[in-house]
Amino acid sequence: MIEIQRRGLLLVMSSPSGAGKTTLSRRLLAADANITMSVSVTTRAPRPGEVNGKDYHFISQRDFAKLRDAGDLLEYAEVFGNFYGTPKKPVVDALQAGRDVLFDIDWQGTQQLAQAMEGDLVRIFILPPSAEELRERLIRRAQDSSSTVAKRMAKAADEISHWPEYDYVIVNEDIIIAAAQIDAILSAERLRRHRRVGLTQFVRDLTKNL
Ligand code: 5GP
Repeated sequence: MIEIQRRGLLLVMSSPSGAGKTTLSRRLLAADANITMSVSVTTRAPRPGEVNGKDYHFISQRDFAKLRDAGDLLEYAEVFGNFYGTPKKPVVDALQAGRDVLFDIDWQGTQQLAQAMEGDLVRIFILPPSAEELRERLIRRAQDSSSTVAKRMAKAADEISHWPEYDYVIVNEDIIIAAAQIDAILSAERLRRHRRVGLTQFVRDLTKNL
């Protein structure tokens, strides 16, 4: 199989909490060896079952400020009184090595990432099929208190209003179909000419013998 060297891409998936983004991310990471999750730093407390270094790097406000002030974060945001940010170095290294990075960040972070590295970015927005379904999913998840569920519902409308800023929009009614749509996006985006840095050489070699 001919391998043409390419630059990695940054795949952003945004959605209101409860739209199925986490399930879709996990599935993609398990199915595709060339994509890894960007692990954000956050000042919020871990939820039951969350693993430090895997779900997030859980850090103090003070350490967060240090990273931010040193320019070591590609983007950051404050959500519900907690700070979240994306460490820069793993992302830059992955792109150069031709590996893709998946981001679970909101619209604020996506806008900042676009400013920093627009050409590398592929943005997918995931919508729930209906408001009722979103509410049910949040309650079923039951990781959050009922006041947090209410807050997340209120925030959903605001988050959803940013859908036109994304390259692709998926309505997650059926997880199998949504996952297949994400695979299709990723396959096509990986084939984009500007990412395939090995093409010039490949075509040069090809045409030499024509
Ligand atoms: P949660 O506390 O539920 O894990 O995340 C709350 C919100 O913060 C979600 O909307 C999530 O997408 C967002 N978030 C998580 N990590 C980051 C990050 O590194 N940067 C930004 N801008 N948002 C993040």
